Amino acid sequence: MPDIKELSLEELKERFNAAGIRPFHAEQVFAWIYRKMAGTFRDMSDLPASLREYLSSDFSIYNSVVAHRLVSRDGTVKLLSELADGNMIESVLIPTERRMTGCISVQAGCGLRCAFCASGALGLERNLNCGEILEQVCRLQKEAGGRLTHLVFMGTGEPFNNYDNLIKAVRIINSKESFHIGARRITISTSGILPGIARLAGEGLQVELSVSLHAADNEIRSRLMPVNEIYPLARLLAACRVYSRKTGRQVTFEYILIKGINSSLPNAVKLCKMLKGMGCKVNLIPLNPLPSMEWRPPSAAETAVFSSFLRRQGIQATVRQPRGRDIEAACGQLRLQYAQNRQVERCVKSQ
Ligand code: SAH
Repeated sequence: MPDIKELSLEELKERFNAAGIRPFHAEQVFAWIYRKMAGTFRDMSDLPASLREYLSSDFSIYNSVVAHRLVSRDGTVKLLSELADGNMIESVLIPTERRMTGCISVQAGCGLRCAFCASGALGLERNLNCGEILEQVCRLQKEAGGRLTHLVFMGTGEPFNNYDNLIKAVRIINSKESFHIGARRITISTSGILPGIARLAGEGLQVELSVSLHAADNEIRSRLMPVNEIYPLARLLAACRVYSRKTGRQVTFEYILIKGINSSLPNAVKLCKMLKGMGCKVNLIPLNPLPSMEWRPPSAAETAVFSSFLRRQGIQATVRQPRGRDIEAACGQLRLQYAQNRQVERCVKSQ
């Protein structure tokens, strides 16, 4: 049976209309699913019994199975969940003083194969559907005790390679009948998929757009991110300028700092030149090194030189604090570890 979270409010209303059910019940159903976190249609106590019956026979409320729940010393909670087809996905809750941020995955695996990222190591399995994206938000909302304030699409996968499901989910998350999280509190992070940036500019959504830049020249960027071969820097920046002009919103550029690769002062100079006059923010992320890689983040001193140079040039730059390091909270690490363990288990079993 189809997951009811696949339907927007309008679609549910249409279904109700066609079945002779009064459409205002759709709003009640949305409140039960997204605000009261009902697990079954039977729990929806203010709906007529006949409607509960109809819903139970025509829809399901899909729930994944949490295979691991890890809580970091810093309060970060990481969930590794198993989907109906056995695929594993990660979602993370990051509490800070003033925010409760949920980090959501949009794909099982990722096809981009960025050299620094654990998600790409296993390749892409498939896109998540809208209900699977929303279910992560439901789970994190429960973890947050109903106080989720921000969402970032920075889990596994490339949001713009699953564009339609992403935008459908964002509109539902944004709506007052559901989580009612303001668009400005929702961040979509892309590796720089140009058609997605252009489409988002026309959605009329006030969401935050983050672009994973990570380098100020094509040679280094292609080495870090193979997607740069398809959408190289000049075209990417042009698309970001158009996006800013059309939406009136600043783009945030994410820039991972990797010692000896892109973190020196000459790299900072190049970056400033490239972003000159753009009206953007830069979020510097010291590399979270994977056990399998030789790359390391630069020292705190080198990071400070880089960020203060940017600031002196008039670019708003922040340095991201690492969260949940003790629970492998970054970028597909847990999923990768799980898959590797499964492989080891299979090998041991077959011997
Ligand atoms: N595919 C999207 C969103 C997922 S990744 C994108 O590329 O933007 C979210 C952010 O985490 C990206 O900026 C990504 O480059 C960064 N990231 C991935 N692996 C990392 C690591 N090992 N250390 C630090 N940041 C990492």
